Amino acid sequence: MDKVRVRFAPSPTGPFSLGNARTALYNWLFARHEGGEFFLRVEDTDKERSKKEYEDDILEGLKWLGLTWDNAEVMRQSERGKIYEEALTKLLNEGRAYYCFCTPDELEAERQAQMSQGIPPKYGGKCRHFTKEEASAQLGKKSAVIRFAMPPRELEFEDMIRGKVRVDTSLIGDIVIARNLRDPLYNFSVVVDDAAMAITHVIRGEDHLSNTPKQIMIAEALGFTSPQFAHLPLILGPDKKKLSKRNLEGSLNDYRKQGYLPEAVLNFLVLLGWHPVKDREILSRDEMVAEFNLKRVQKGGAVMNEEKLSWLNLQHLRALPVETVMEHLSPFIPAEWRKRPAFLRRVVEVERNRMKTLQEFVELADPFFELPEYPATLLIWKETPKEIVIKNLEDAEGIIAAAPEKKLVAAELESQLFEMANRTGRGEFLWPLRVALSGREASPGPLELIEVLGKEEALRRIHHALELLTGGTLAPEVRS
Ligand code: GLU
Repeated sequence: MDKVRVRFAPSPTGPFSLGNARTALYNWLFARHEGGEFFLRVEDTDKERSKKEYEDDILEGLKWLGLTWDNAEVMRQSERGKIYEEALTKLLNEGRAYYCFCTPDELEAERQAQMSQGIPPKYGGKCRHFTKEEASAQLGKKSAVIRFAMPPRELEFEDMIRGKVRVDTSLIGDIVIARNLRDPLYNFSVVVDDAAMAITHVIRGEDHLSNTPKQIMIAEALGFTSPQFAHLPLILGPDKKKLSKRNLEGSLNDYRKQGYLPEAVLNFLVLLGWHPVKDREILSRDEMVAEFNLKRVQKGGAVMNEEKLSWLNLQHLRALPVETVMEHLSPFIPAEWRKRPAFLRRVVEVERNRMKTLQEFVELADPFFELPEYPATLLIWKETPKEIVIKNLEDAEGIIAAAPEKKLVAAELESQLFEMANRTGRGEFLWPLRVALSGREASPGPLELIEVLGKEEALRRIHHALELLTGGTLAPEVRS
């Protein structure tokens, strides 16, 4: 096999979507696995819809995912007008393409007539029969487009994922390939560029399957050998329906902003249509490169489930050293927190198993840095009388206060606190203590909280809880 050369060819007409990111990933993995090359080509021939900000979004997303491309400079179709002009002129001169002067109204009338007869609509080929002289006489006077004279053929090609595909090209008809010599449409510019870049494999979404026979026929007319094709399955929503536009068009960069790790996003994307031999779920980038091949890409739609992404993020976060988690967290956390690195590290150690995203960490960690306001009623476990809650908190306070160290070790307090809890009732004892320490309905357990907060802060918070329960009139003798 020739050296593999693949390309990712996004149109910058919207943010970098998950679907496009999967296409980029599969191309990149295929190239890396085969020891080939991966190129980036920006398909910005649609002048109205292409935007620089979308191109930036795509490049940023690719960089974040680490899907590096091998062309030194980004290739843009908008800069290749002359090359398309040459190829279009060649086809026109050879009579394989022609100018069409039909007006939109004429075309619509033809379409309606065909449909009313139950014939699949296609261009009837009226302008195909003009001689060059006749066409030149009309050029400049009437508006025109360039059509490809589609040779009728029972075309068969091999899709690397879907197997043999057969198409009767006469059903396609003479498609428009350019608005004018400098303004080619997608199906034409793709063929010219794939040939110019010596692309060996085109890997793209199934939505392009109907374009492939057109591109094969255009390539043939231009004297090019077509690359091999692989069409990736559609991405479906959890309801097994085609993914909504909103989901497909949501930017991949939003996931970055929410604090998903690139490793987790890659892992999520790779499983949208492909599975490794032993049906593992968690894969590193290197494992993906080692194992990826197109044979294991499924034909049927790939169901996307965002909960899986959260789960994968949690798994990848858990596998990272705490220092690396802290580096990833850095852009998410308030500057104040970074001034207390040792304390922050302890908080990260406790919370890392609970946060699904980096952003979620901020919410989870907040009570460690500042005790939230909470109502006294939150301290009360079920129907426990208030006096018992107070008594239990005082007992806990006593145990903690008697501990010799400023920095408390959970294991050393554990037996004392649990002995007490077992005597008075676990819920009755541990609930108010945990709420007093965290100010929250849900938090890590009281021992972890004590260990992270330290003796002084733990006592301060318990004292505050007692004040809440006694309406701020905590007499010294009550506290003893
Ligand atoms: N610009 C096309 C797209 O974004 C590329 C399709 C292809 O890979 O040929 O859908």
